[in-house]
Amino acid sequence: MRILITGGAGFLGSHLCDRLLADGHEVICIDNLFTGSKANIAHLLNNTHFEFVRHDVIDPFKYEVDQIYNLACPASPPHYQYNPIKTTKTSVMGAINCLGLAKRLKARVFQASTSEVYGDPAVHPQPESYWGNVNPIGKRSCYDEGKRCAETLFFDYYRENKVDIRVVRIFNTYGPRMHPNDGRVVSNFIVQALKGESITIFGDGQQTRSFCYVDDLIEGFVRLMAQTETVGPVNIGNPGEFTMLELAENVLRLTKSKSKIVHKPLPSDDPRQRKPDITLAQKYLKWEPKVPLNEGLKKTIAYFKTKV
Ligand code: NAD
Ligand code: UDP
Repeated sequence: MRILITGGAGFLGSHLCDRLLADGHEVICIDNLFTGSKANIAHLLNNTHFEFVRHDVIDPFKYEVDQIYNLACPASPPHYQYNPIKTTKTSVMGAINCLGLAKRLKARVFQASTSEVYGDPAVHPQPESYWGNVNPIGKRSCYDEGKRCAETLFFDYYRENKVDIRVVRIFNTYGPRMHPNDGRVVSNFIVQALKGESITIFGDGQQTRSFCYVDDLIEGFVRLMAQTETVGPVNIGNPGEFTMLELAENVLRLTKSKSKIVHKPLPSDDPRQRKPDITLAQKYLKWEPKVPLNEGLKKTIAYFKTKV
């Protein structure tokens, strides 16, 4: 197949490019390089089955493809809050542009949604049936509500125009090719530990997250796109739940770093807990994560050792 990936030069997008090319497909990657980089796809630029186009998804695009994966959107809080209006535009107009193209081509189209649609969840762990607890006017809203609106658009195009959609809700994912200054917790802690800088825990560190290794996540994407039993939304994430203090201790142990832990103020609307209910992924995709946190952290630390 010929497959379009928006945001293909980012952390997850570049791994998806690798996977789809390895599976024998042709890949067109469009990206405005806001948080992604050519370095993430440098090893693909001479591959005759791969094309990179610098383009912003808020402007329409036309390519003749069989499938579309829509990943374009900054994902780390400092990056998506840098220009919040642009973040909402990217999610909403990017979704409309992907869906319009998919409608004309009758192509299957995938939306990278997020566990942020659950906000600061009052239900734990989070099943897809939970509608969430999202502040519509806070600093995270540009991302959370942008992604919620994108889901709405996907389901309206599905109901109104019979567009062949798939929607995944991604829980915190980490691995090689995260940007060292990305601002997300796993990359921050590893880079700080490797540089001997203080590990910055926001708040008391008792908030929890569930961390999925990138290879597991990409396998879930491909399985969701390959099957016809559900259009989603389907949670993909690792149900192992850790406090940020536990994560910091694991990173310090695995890097053998002498960095000290310091506490910084908790950002507003920071969810207190997060853990995916993956019953639907197990049922429809026969998918479960395989890489435990310590193993994934070791691979990610090895990557960052070459970068910092
Ligand atoms: P990332 O920031 O590395 O990748 C996003 C990519 O989109 C970058 O290459 C960036 O340059 C590109 N982009 C941003 N705005 C664009 C625009 N207007 N036009 C074209 N390209 C644009 O982040 P990531 O972790 O790889 O996230 C990929 C997708 O997965 C995002 O949609 C994100 O919301 C979603 N997601 C990721 C996680 C995670 O833990 N990594 C969790 C939930 C959801
Ligand atoms: N966090 C932290 N120190 C950091 C970066 C993040 O303690 O240097 C915390 C953050 O407050 C949140 C958790 O780690 O509670 C996950 O943050 P991240 O930005 O990675 O993802 P998200 O909040 O979007 O899940």
